[in-house]
Amino acid sequence: MAGKYLGENVGKLGFGFMRLPKKDAGFDLELINRMVDRFLEAGFTYFDTAYVYMGSEEAMRETLVKRHPRDKYTIASKLNMMNVMKSEDMQTVFETSLKRLGTDYLDYYLLHGLNAMTNKRCEELGAWDFVKKLKAEGKIKHYGFSYHDNPENLDAILTAHPDAEFVQLQINYLDWDSEDVKSRGVYEVARKHNKPIIIMEPLKGGLLADENSTVSKVLKKADPSASLASWAMRFVASLDGVFNVLSGMNSMEQMEDNINTFQNLKPLSDDEMKVIDEAVNVLKSIPRVPCTSCNYCVEQCPQKINIPALMNLYSNYLVYNSTANSEMAFMFATANRGKPSDCVSCKACEEQCPQHIEISDIINKMAPLYEK
Ligand code: SF4
Ligand code: SF4
Repeated sequence: MAGKYLGENVGKLGFGFMRLPKKDAGFDLELINRMVDRFLEAGFTYFDTAYVYMGSEEAMRETLVKRHPRDKYTIASKLNMMNVMKSEDMQTVFETSLKRLGTDYLDYYLLHGLNAMTNKRCEELGAWDFVKKLKAEGKIKHYGFSYHDNPENLDAILTAHPDAEFVQLQINYLDWDSEDVKSRGVYEVARKHNKPIIIMEPLKGGLLADENSTVSKVLKKADPSASLASWAMRFVASLDGVFNVLSGMNSMEQMEDNINTFQNLKPLSDDEMKVIDEAVNVLKSIPRVPCTSCNYCVEQCPQKINIPALMNLYSNYLVYNSTANSEMAFMFATANRGKPSDCVSCKACEEQCPQHIEISDIINKMAPLYEK
């Protein structure tokens, strides 16, 4: 169940504090207490949060840090460059995380949501030197980064920063060979650089575990007794080099299901992989926006809208009929850029689009969906 990575014995299941159960206007701390206790009792230790997950660090302090000895678990939090205007802000953000968490050190600290653009900001503001300094001071034990971009840019970052100790990647069976996320490609780059891998979004925001989805029929027919989540978890947990799989659990049932999967972890057989292929084909047959991310439209937009990223998000919405699994991606796509509601319907983008996509119509449909 556990493997030794970065000198630490780490159980493969991680408890992500991004989608905590809610009660009234806040979090259901009593339920989270029980989930934390059960997780630790089952032998798992990795807890994940971030400065930008509103209220999450404080909830971790109340349910974990105040209630369990600090050496019985590990905490990962993240530095998001959206919260950093100047170099000095990094220290403030880090100390705020420590204070919210009620701890004086972090086991893992990640530069949050890197891509070519955010890494440029990290370079300009000295974020890599900052995390190195924190490690030398003993304030963090290990540093790495979470990543949302293509394999080529990951290769460039890892080549420039061989000291990064681990990477956190979005990998799930649907994104494995997808054109937009390219999970397989980024996984192979991380392996080439011998980096231990943490998996995020193994269930694509919970939707690969959605009983109402088209995937459900395929998987339940193949094995009525297996949970939908267990298929997705087994797919990612069996990959070489994976030391942790994050799950944003928000009920005791999800936690028990994951504990059962990870305590009895079995790689998918060849026959089971064929079932996964069938599920992926069903999902791929749902129509998508035919955007090829050529970027011809981007320069034309007076509102600086990241059009190709929004076209991909809208495709995702068409597949799942939900925005639940892409809220974070929307935040990254619109950081320092125009939002859908900024679109002035000038259609300058459409004149450039070789795919003849009705971009402004789609963007106008996205405003009420994503900017609720
Ligand atoms: S229609 Fe909207 S998205 Fe297209 S260029 Fe004009 S403002 Fe930008
Ligand atoms: S021009 Fe069309 S195909 Fe190219 S990125 Fe823009 S929307 Fe996508």
